[in-house]
Amino acid sequence: MLCEMCGKEVPMTSRVRLEHSVLALCPDCAKFGTPLDPVPSPTPAESGGRSTFRPGVVAGRATGTRRRLEERDLYQEIGEMELAPDWTKRIRVAREALQWTPEVLGQKLNEKKSLVLKIESGNFRPPDALVRKIEHILKVRLRAEPEPSAGQS
Ligand SMILES: [Zn+2]
Repeated sequence: MLCEMCGKEVPMTSRVRLEHSVLALCPDCAKFGTPLDPVPSPTPAESGGRSTFRPGVVAGRATGTRRRLEERDLYQEIGEMELAPDWTKRIRVAREALQWTPEVLGQKLNEKKSLVLKIESGNFRPPDALVRKIEHILKVRLRAEPEPSAGQS
């Protein structure tokens, strides 16, 4: 077999990851890259218990007996506003345009800096009242309806 790096004829090459490609290399060249593990290491199952936050989506609530409560819960806990897919980004962009730190925005909102960071990272969906407050203070739209087209020319 030929080493794909130095071209040397060797009895056995090993597959090595080098700069985003996988090459068959002789033992001498193999040490320049990362050896590929022939046995794929089992990845820990990460489905289930993770609470990945998705705006506007209530995950795993509506089971059998709870179905009748679902609608009410939605209004009470999540809020009825549908936020734009990139609402967290809109907050951050607007905040940075004002050159406010998360701390400053927190002060304006009467909230903690940590809450601002949670909101911007999508880990916390603010209640509707807070959504309105953020929209007002940052002068930004967070809701899903399309922007009124200005029609500038
Ligand atoms: Zn080689």
